[in-house]
Amino acid sequence: MIFINETLFSKTKTIINKYEFTFKKKFGQNFLIDNHVLNKIISSAEIDENDVVIEIGPGIGTLTAEVAKKAFKVVAVEIDRTLVPILCDTLSDFDNIEIINEDILKVDIREIAKRYFDKNIKIVANLPYYITTPIIMEILEKRFPVESITVMVQREVAYRMGAKPSSKDYGALSLSVQYFCEPYIVANVPRNCFMPRPNVDSAVIKLTVLEEPFVKTNDIKLMFHIIKLAFSQRRKTLLNCLFNSGDFGFSKEEITEVLNEVGFDEKIRGETLGLSDFGKIADAFYKKIE
Ligand code: SAM
Repeated sequence: MIFINETLFSKTKTIINKYEFTFKKKFGQNFLIDNHVLNKIISSAEIDENDVVIEIGPGIGTLTAEVAKKAFKVVAVEIDRTLVPILCDTLSDFDNIEIINEDILKVDIREIAKRYFDKNIKIVANLPYYITTPIIMEILEKRFPVESITVMVQREVAYRMGAKPSSKDYGALSLSVQYFCEPYIVANVPRNCFMPRPNVDSAVIKLTVLEEPFVKTNDIKLMFHIIKLAFSQRRKTLLNCLFNSGDFGFSKEEITEVLNEVGFDEKIRGETLGLSDFGKIADAFYKKIE
């Protein structure tokens, strides 16, 4: 059971009132008001003085201040310009915070990493939920030199990212994230830990970025195309998903032959397969196309 921490709650209320700040739904503004959850994010992110932390959406600076106490530097990217004067006030005691008033999707993260080439780059955020998947996949797919991503996301999305084969949450997102990272669900966070209270529950997830992707395959695009098709009709066999898609370019017999060749029955369903299995299957099709 998580109790609302009165201090963080009243502190947030005082700042909101002082600046007559109005929450903007379109920016996913749900500020964290629970100290216990704040501490959980900080401890799981394992920040030290050799780290440069990029924070996405600092809001009024609650998480930013705690990160800045531990990190070498915090680069906080906030889209809402009305929050900038508030941040300058709430974070005035720190000299290791840079505030960038920009949309994170337009910020060159590689450029920031280059500036701090001798430091470890970590991402920490209570994410605005509308950009969760785009920003995480952008960081991973472009292989920005980031060591870990510790973020608050919608609970359902956290479970999908961390899901294992044959579970109900397992799907293309699980495989895309786990190709690049080792996921770990740090905490479940109920909706009453935020101001204003959102309509969904949340969870903190830590993604530790792997030095090398989880599997080696000849053609990543082909592997992820197969994965996408495999989950397009969840309850169908992989054979039917690939064949029914109409754009896979192999007959039923040829697909069966390839699946059997790498040790799978033609009745196998995508939801039971792991990344290594999809890697093997993709390589077998790759050989046929070559
Ligand atoms: N970090 C604060 C906290 O934990 O209380 C605020 C978190 S709130 C869920 C999300 C924050 O992200 C808001 O401050 C919002 O204005 C900001 N934001 C929304 N979209 C953004 C974007 N595309 N780029 C940067 N910041 C964004």
